[in-house]
Amino acid sequence: MTDDARTLVVEGVSKVYETPTGPNMVLADVSLRAEPGETFAILGPSGSGKSTLLNIIGSLDRPTSGSVRLGPIHVTALEGPMLAQFRAHEVGFIFQDHHLLPQLTAVENVALPALAAGAADGAAQRARELLERMGVGGRADAFPAKLSGGERQRVAAARALINGARLLLCDEPTGNLDRETGLRLMELLRELSEDGVTVLMVTHNTEQAAMLGRGLALREGRLEPWEGEAGGAGA
Ligand code: ADP
Repeated sequence: MTDDARTLVVEGVSKVYETPTGPNMVLADVSLRAEPGETFAILGPSGSGKSTLLNIIGSLDRPTSGSVRLGPIHVTALEGPMLAQFRAHEVGFIFQDHHLLPQLTAVENVALPALAAGAADGAAQRARELLERMGVGGRADAFPAKLSGGERQRVAAARALINGARLLLCDEPTGNLDRETGLRLMELLRELSEDGVTVLMVTHNTEQAAMLGRGLALREGRLEPWEGEAGGAGA
């Protein structure tokens, strides 16, 4: 697949939750376009719909209307095995909590999605190489409990990319890290983008948001350019 074929296009996405007190429109006609290797920060107050947007882009949730495409793939129209295939191969998530399995070592955690996708051959070797690239090659055989917070998030990044995803969706991945460790993880995201991985990161952290290529703020369901601290991203 060529690079052009990986352009992410979000078009007119709206999301309405039905609640006992009536409909709650969380996203209202949200559109964005991300070329391969672009990096985006998505800011906005708690409850403004950041996670909802990321989940819709990553096919974990569906919009009420509108569409998401990744190159030729109509993400919002996927069902059944095609949806499973998309989740396994095209998109990777990193969350605030690492979600590593405590009973598996770092390399086993990273290899797991490859095994689940039926690509067991060489999975452990690929996992070790990815951990090396993430700067934690020396920790491959450690269990999550023995890793620092920053190391765990690097392992989580390797796990997100083991099946070749070129779209990395990050939901407050530095939320539990100290400032220095968080900045180092940001450096890693930047390096990945230089290799052509598209990165969308939800964050409250304006210092980190400023390190990414573009900033967007969600306000009252609408996505607007974020212009830095003066833009008042909120918390
Ligand atoms: P953020 O990530 O910006 O904090 P979220 O996307 O988590 O915001 O949530 C946006 C809004 O949607 C909130 O008001 C939340 O209560 C509501 N919401 C999220 N998920 C659901 C759901 N499954 N059902 C009903 N309301 C939801």
